[in-house]
Amino acid sequence: MKMGPILPGSTIGCLGGGQLGRMFALAARRMGYRVHTVDSMPNTPTGQISDREFNVPYSDIATLTEFARGVDVVTCEFENIPIEALDALASKVELRPGRNALYTTQNRLREKQFLQQNGFPVAPFRVVQNELELREAVAALGCPCVLKTSDFAYDGKGQQQIAYETDLADVWKRHAAYTGVLEAWVPFAAELSVVVARGNLLVEDEEHQAVAFPPTVNEHENHILATSVAPAPLADSIQVRAQSIAVAIARELDVIGLLAVEFFLTKRGDLLVNELAPRPHNSGHYSFDACVTSQFEQQLRAVCGLPLGETRLLSPVLMRNLLGDVWANGAPNWSGLLALPGLRLHLYGKSVPRIGRKMGHYSVLSATLDQAREIDAQAQKILGR
Ligand code: AMP
Repeated sequence: MKMGPILPGSTIGCLGGGQLGRMFALAARRMGYRVHTVDSMPNTPTGQISDREFNVPYSDIATLTEFARGVDVVTCEFENIPIEALDALASKVELRPGRNALYTTQNRLREKQFLQQNGFPVAPFRVVQNELELREAVAALGCPCVLKTSDFAYDGKGQQQIAYETDLADVWKRHAAYTGVLEAWVPFAAELSVVVARGNLLVEDEEHQAVAFPPTVNEHENHILATSVAPAPLADSIQVRAQSIAVAIARELDVIGLLAVEFFLTKRGDLLVNELAPRPHNSGHYSFDACVTSQFEQQLRAVCGLPLGETRLLSPVLMRNLLGDVWANGAPNWSGLLALPGLRLHLYGKSVPRIGRKMGHYSVLSATLDQAREIDAQAQKILGR
């Protein structure tokens, strides 16, 4: 079915009510669109910005059908949506990205097999379904290695690191019933990521228009993203390679919308794909303040069949997540933070701060990355870190 562009004034459906959907909804409403969202919980970060919030589980197909009837296109801010719900929606309304991209990226094993079968570089891995297979796989891959659940768990949940002395019987017991993916440990030089948008507009070679954002270098703490910086302090050749791999994956998955690709850069200069996400990504938050077009506006343009925006970086930038941890001694000193030059604060409207919960982020825009890092250090001090 060939559809024309979905223009301002139309209604976009967003599956998921988290902060990614919130920032998407802000971009959509800024451009005159209406937003309806689905989440099982009320008053979500996305729902607070939406025209309408449907509070139902994804098993409530009747309400999902009503939601689908009221929107012009459906996109998502997280990918772990039951396939039955996706099928029900796709029979009523255009789903972008489509079922295949979501289905593939919902499961670590499917994702890794897709990458491997299509010749994209990944760390060596083995599928394991019992303790014996775990023992064989550990012997084959060597230590250290890491056992991950195949059903997607985010932010390092469901992962167990394995060293030579680790008791594998224990590891398998903790792993419980899931199929596992055992992955070689990558002693990386850096972690980087690229967000690409692939639109519904065809360009000269009859391919869909695809545009990559500038890569970021990311640092994690306790498996959760802590900071991203751009421009990535890496050789241009590495950045261009990462962008072209990301665009190629988006094409292979036929994504209409966004695809975030996380990479390990090995000490030898190789890029290995770690993880995919067919939606806005935490490491792309910097684009909200520091690029001509943000990842959220780009998602909107892509799913609406509009021309994709320019992704040029306007300033060196450091993005840092604000986890519930910084609320340990009560509300943080926002005034102190906002006095810092170049700092832009984003809070997601979540009322209960918990350890490890993503409550907001800030971006520091400065003339150089070094200066942005200095301001970030001051911000951290103000937050008692
Ligand atoms: P994941 O949820 O798979 O993205 O893992 C979260 C974080 O754990 C990654 O961003 C890395 O910092 C670390 N990690 C996961 N897998 C590996 C690996 N095979 N080698 C080295 N670090 C890893």
